[in-house]
Amino acid sequence: MNYIVMKFGGSSIQTILHMQRVAERVIQKQKEGYGVVVVLSAMGSTTNQLLDLAKQVTKYPSKRETDMLISTGEQVSISLFTMILKARDIEAVSLTGSQAGIKTFGSHLNNKINDIDTSNITKHLNDHQIVVVAGFQGMNEQGDITTLGRGGSDTSAVAIAAKLQCDCEIYTDVDGIYAADPRIFKTAKKLSYISYEEMKEMAFLGAKVMEPRSIEIAHQHQIRIYVASSMTMEKGTYITEGKEMIEKQTITGLSVSDKVVMVTLKHVANQLNIVADLFMNLAENEVNVDMISQSPSSKDFVNVSFTAGANDLTQINEVLEKLLQNNPDIEIIMDNQVVKVSVVGQAMRHQSGVAAKLFKVLSENQIEFKLVTTSEISISYTISKKLKEQAIQAIANAFDLGETNV
Ligand code: ADP
Ligand code: ASP
Ligand code: MG
Repeated sequence: MNYIVMKFGGSSIQTILHMQRVAERVIQKQKEGYGVVVVLSAMGSTTNQLLDLAKQVTKYPSKRETDMLISTGEQVSISLFTMILKARDIEAVSLTGSQAGIKTFGSHLNNKINDIDTSNITKHLNDHQIVVVAGFQGMNEQGDITTLGRGGSDTSAVAIAAKLQCDCEIYTDVDGIYAADPRIFKTAKKLSYISYEEMKEMAFLGAKVMEPRSIEIAHQHQIRIYVASSMTMEKGTYITEGKEMIEKQTITGLSVSDKVVMVTLKHVANQLNIVADLFMNLAENEVNVDMISQSPSSKDFVNVSFTAGANDLTQINEVLEKLLQNNPDIEIIMDNQVVKVSVVGQAMRHQSGVAAKLFKVLSENQIEFKLVTTSEISISYTISKKLKEQAIQAIANAFDLGETNV
């Protein structure tokens, strides 16, 4: 029997009516002869609501208990969805992450999948049941329920597909992957294909349509992903090896990350150990530092700037407080009115002049940037939040990321 994994995100199953529509699609897939594994997220914004409840109890909820709490969202989805299938006389069974054999390791709220024992899933598939698995969750070696980080149902789905060696379909509230988030750039082009590398980079740089780790798993195990709308039958986007794409544009896509904080430290004594200790302490506090720049302000002092995820603000403040205790002359400027705009394209590896063109576009549009970083296939700029729309428009026009006939 050919297996297939179909994953539906929160907005696709936000009400029972939505679930009923999704059930039709799933049943149709089974009729086509597939052994169907359905992976579900929590309904609508349930996960956020559960996190809000925890915050009403305490400012710093225990991570283990938070995992216990937020994993329930997906369990509501799988039980209700399976009831809908059964009400239509379709054989189906719901499985929690641990019942589906998902074994995890790492820190609570951000676990990684170690392995999946798919024997329970395949047993039910071979009994011609539709298997409905709770995304986003697993169980660690201690037998604790764990979650895989926000957006982690994508990871569950792709990991199951990797283990079953089958295709994975991701159904969501957009009808494919666009050159830029269609909610912030309405005329963005839809892509028929995107390479694993480009999708991974776009996701890491803020395109929340796919969780970045899920693409890493798909790439490693050569699992073809199809991203499409759960509401319409519009043709979606394949995420696959780059070779399927005949003609490559210089820039395939643009990502924006709003959840950025930029920290500038002024009047830092020009001693290597101060800066080294700062980044060491940030790392020890699990702050993922992204961009860094250091420039001399005088012979004896330097200015240091770095960006990190806004979610890490509490840890960053703790580290900076300690830094100030030992170096009271340092001036700290925190700027959370910044965004990171990145362009991504595999062709950048072989083409020169992309950065030059970007600098020109930004300067012609009077868009001042604060920090820049590059990878082999991307260039990222931190700019003021106020300039976000203007920058997206200018870059999209310059690199042909919009539809021409709209
Ligand atoms: P789900 O609940 O199905 O997991 P998400 O909200 O996680 O859905 O992801 C879908 C959202 O991703 C879309 O609503 C869209 O705004 C956003 N998005 C960001 N970048 C892109 C892009 N390049 N192409 C398509 N959607 C994107
Ligand atoms: N429900 C989880 C979240 O909101 C997982 C997911 O949606 O993929 O992050
Ligand atoms: Mg998602």
